[in-house]
Amino acid sequence: MKFRATSILSTALAAVVGFGFAATAAMAQGKRYPMHPASAQLLRTAKANGVKVLIDPGKKHCPPKLFGFATRNGYLVVCYRNHTMIDGKRGLSKNEALELADTIRHELVHIVQYCAYGGNMILPQNENYFISYAQDLGMPILSYGRHQWATEAEARVLAHELTEAQIADLLIKSCRN
Ligand SMILES: [Zn+2]
Repeated sequence: MKFRATSILSTALAAVVGFGFAATAAMAQGKRYPMHPASAQLLRTAKANGVKVLIDPGKKHCPPKLFGFATRNGYLVVCYRNHTMIDGKRGLSKNEALELADTIRHELVHIVQYCAYGGNMILPQNENYFISYAQDLGMPILSYGRHQWATEAEARVLAHELTEAQIADLLIKSCRN
C-alpha cells in the first residue's frame, strides 16, 4: 500500500536522483490515463503475467491520500486521480507522473511479495537497512501497522532503486504461472 508522504522529500529526492527514465520524455497517450511510457509498458507486462490491474475503481478503494495498493489475490489498484491532485493543477504534471511511476513499481513489489514470498519480504536479511532507508525517502511509517513496516519499507526502497525493466524482470521470474 502506498500513502502520500507527509513531506515532499520523497518527490524532491526522486526528481534529483532520477528514475529509470528521463523526466522530459513524452507521456504515453493512453486514452483516459496518460502516464509515462515506461509505466504503461510495466502495466502491460504485469497484465500479461496475470496481475489484475484496476485504475481508479472508486472512492471506497481510493480515499484521499491513498496512491494505490496490491492484494494477496493479485489485484493492483492504482489511485490515478489522487496522483493528479498533488500539484493542485489539472492533469498529470511531470512530478505527478514520476510519483505515479513510483506507485506502480511499489505496488508491483508487493505483488511479488505476495505471489512468491507469502506476503513477506523478498530480501528479509535487509530489513533494518530497508526500514532506515525508507524513512530517509519520506515513507510515512506511522501510516502502517508495525507488522507492515518491513514489507512497506522494502517496497519503497526497491521502487526507488529499481527501473521499470528490473521490476518487470522480478515479476516475470517470481510470479509467472
Ligand atoms: Zn506499500
